[in-house]
Amino acid sequence: MIKKIDHIGIAVSNLEEALKLYTDVLGLNLADTEIVEEQKVKVAFLPIGDTEIELLEPTDPDSPIAKFIEKRGQGIQHIAFRVDNIEEAIKEMKDKGMRMIDEKPRYGAGGANIAFIHPKSTQGVLVELSEREE
Ligand code: ZN
Repeated sequence: MIKKIDHIGIAVSNLEEALKLYTDVLGLNLADTEIVEEQKVKVAFLPIGDTEIELLEPTDPDSPIAKFIEKRGQGIQHIAFRVDNIEEAIKEMKDKGMRMIDEKPRYGAGGANIAFIHPKSTQGVLVELSEREE
């Protein structure tokens, strides 16, 4: 079901500062940025090999990413696995007894269809399932 690591999501409090680290220091290239209103987050994608780093900056103190940073500080927030079919992946996870945060696919940055598995079901790791075109 899982094809590869689609991306690693990293919560940052200041995207501009974070980009200096990831581009100037680490030498990655910024592919794109996008504001996802629904999640109150500004997202930057930095491809690396066959996967991507996804930097997430909250655009509002109410956003889930702002709450994450408040509780746990900046850092890795989730791992996203690429799947062929998001609906089937959700069903399979539910059939296997996993608790889903998203029972239905929703919009994810970069035009993906995504669903999160609850970290209570995944030993503390927030897992995103992501279906999207290459
Ligand atoms: Zn993500």
